[in-house]
Amino acid sequence: MANKNPLQHQARKRFGQNFLVDHGVIRHIVRAIGPQTQDNIVEIGPGQGAITASLLEACPELNVVELDRDLIPILRVKFDRYPGFKINEADALKFDFSALADGKAPLRVVGNLPYNISTPLIFHLLEQRQSIKDMHFMLQKEVVLRLAAKPGDKNFGRLSVMAQYWCDIEDLFDVPPECFRPAPKVMSAIVRLVPHNELPHVAHSHEDLETVVKLAFSQRRKTLRNALKSLLDTLPEAQLCVDLGKRAEALDVADFVALSNQITALKQSL
Ligand code: SAH
Repeated sequence: MANKNPLQHQARKRFGQNFLVDHGVIRHIVRAIGPQTQDNIVEIGPGQGAITASLLEACPELNVVELDRDLIPILRVKFDRYPGFKINEADALKFDFSALADGKAPLRVVGNLPYNISTPLIFHLLEQRQSIKDMHFMLQKEVVLRLAAKPGDKNFGRLSVMAQYWCDIEDLFDVPPECFRPAPKVMSAIVRLVPHNELPHVAHSHEDLETVVKLAFSQRRKTLRNALKSLLDTLPEAQLCVDLGKRAEALDVADFVALSNQITALKQSL
């Protein structure tokens, strides 16, 4: 049903819309971000501007990326008095964030993200990490646990290894469903991702690292020997730098990078 008042918005499921309504939580989030006047901030999915308003108070130059065109006039009216407020009507999954950092300070990315696109969006942003200073996101708690998990933890998996390869990750605090309208079915949490200035462990081939990590966790209850069999069978036999009797969850990022580099070298020796 169409809205009678164009400045009243019905939340849309299709766009993953769960609007923040708890002012205490909004303050907590903005405090965790710590916006400064000279920051170059971009907010993904501003919605009706719940977080945007406090960000603009601290940092009057602000970009937002919003896909739902019905929200654009609401945002325009609400933040009319800020000449530095710029709306980019676009799909964040396809958006060129690096263009916003061109000749400017590296980006601080913020967003209460639609949960269905959060993982691909984080990887889309990581491809542009050279332009990014840090990222603060509201995500499903389960995804935050996976991003921040350490070896041995049941949440430790492909997402943990690949995200921690590129970033330092902190699970900051939980946000319960009743802080949103409509309330989501799951617990949410705020996570901070800071791209490493210099990678602590450098993979010689990112493609090989991705393959190794994906295979290793595809059968996480099996030993690495079994999980990686299809790959190892194509390579010359060699003493590998990790114990193949272990499971993927026992390896840390450094182990995965070392293993991947050894595999890259073995492939090159063929
Ligand atoms: N930040 C607001 C809204 C969160 S809901 C708040 O906290 O209240 C998620 C927002 O992301 C919605 O505004 C939705 O329209 C927007 N969105 C959904 N998919 C998007 C995409 N692919 N690119 C940009 N924005 C998107």
